[in-house]
Amino acid sequence: MKEIYRLSDLRSWKKSAKQPVRLGVFGDPVAHSLSPQMQNAALKQSKIDMQYGRFQVASGELSEAVELCRKHDFVGLNLTVPHKVAALELVDDLDPEARQIGAVNTIAIRDGRLVGFNTDSAGFARALRSEFSIDLRDLRVLLLGAGGAARAIAAQCARAQSERLAIAARDVEKAEALVNTVRGSFTGPRVLGPVARLEAVPWSESALRSQLEHTDLVVNATPIGLQPNDAEVLPVTLLQPHLFVFDTVYAAHPTRLVKNAREAGARAIDGLPMLLQQGARAFEIWFQGEAPIEVMRQALESASR
Ligand code: NDP
Repeated sequence: MKEIYRLSDLRSWKKSAKQPVRLGVFGDPVAHSLSPQMQNAALKQSKIDMQYGRFQVASGELSEAVELCRKHDFVGLNLTVPHKVAALELVDDLDPEARQIGAVNTIAIRDGRLVGFNTDSAGFARALRSEFSIDLRDLRVLLLGAGGAARAIAAQCARAQSERLAIAARDVEKAEALVNTVRGSFTGPRVLGPVARLEAVPWSESALRSQLEHTDLVVNATPIGLQPNDAEVLPVTLLQPHLFVFDTVYAAHPTRLVKNAREAGARAIDGLPMLLQQGARAFEIWFQGEAPIEVMRQALESASR
């Protein structure tokens, strides 16, 4: 198996008799993805004679690459940046959750039909439960970012009827647009105190500081922290011991935000548990059975060391 496949490989695809590649992740960039290590461990453990590959696919190549996978009898795909929204238009059928979120991160190919799912929201909720033993329903959430991952997380907060949800984005209009997609789920006045149950927040230190007084869980759904020289997601002085901090980034293990939060006495996790749980959900969708989650967790832990 190649380290990275490209569209040209799919155009001249030859099925390998031994452990054929019939699953994969499409992204640009994709080299950093840990999904192949995790899914290949799961396939081996489940004695499924297939492999999961890593595919460098640019935006303009997505449609042809997906069609070639259909033609070559693939079982499924994962999509990462920048393909999750574009994939909405490429699938034949859309799971209601993916439609509501407005992004597809998993495709199942069933009887030649492409079915689009989003497993990021379930991955987020499962990771929260498994790592913090808490439920979104009880929480006041401050969500940083308003892109694809944030959409899945906001939808999950809406479904779980979180106590409150504040969404901060550097372009506050994007935060407002995301707030509007979940407004129908936050109608009751559940939260006590001088704050709205649902609101968009500008990305400024003073606005974030006052939000954090009414927050239990902070979620970083921006890519800040992916690069070693990135700025702090939040100034260290804003991190308080009462907070749960969930960083969706998993470039470092732990990330700088997680390290700072733990030093401030808060409980914090990086994006690996979410990656694990969204991948386990994708495996369940493809093979309609349980995913070997412990083997997947071990594969991820050793790949991220
Ligand atoms: P998108 O590009 O769709 O969204 C990124 C968001 O972050 C946008 O709101 C963007 O704002 C904002 N943003 C980017 N840079 C900055 C900055 N310097 N300051 C403030 N805001 C910023 O990406 P995704 O939502 O798909 O992914 C976001 C992150 O989530 C990724 O880094 C990935 O690591 C992580 N992720 C993790 C998963 C997991 O399983 N652990 C699953 C999915 C995602 P703007 O619109 O203004 O550019």
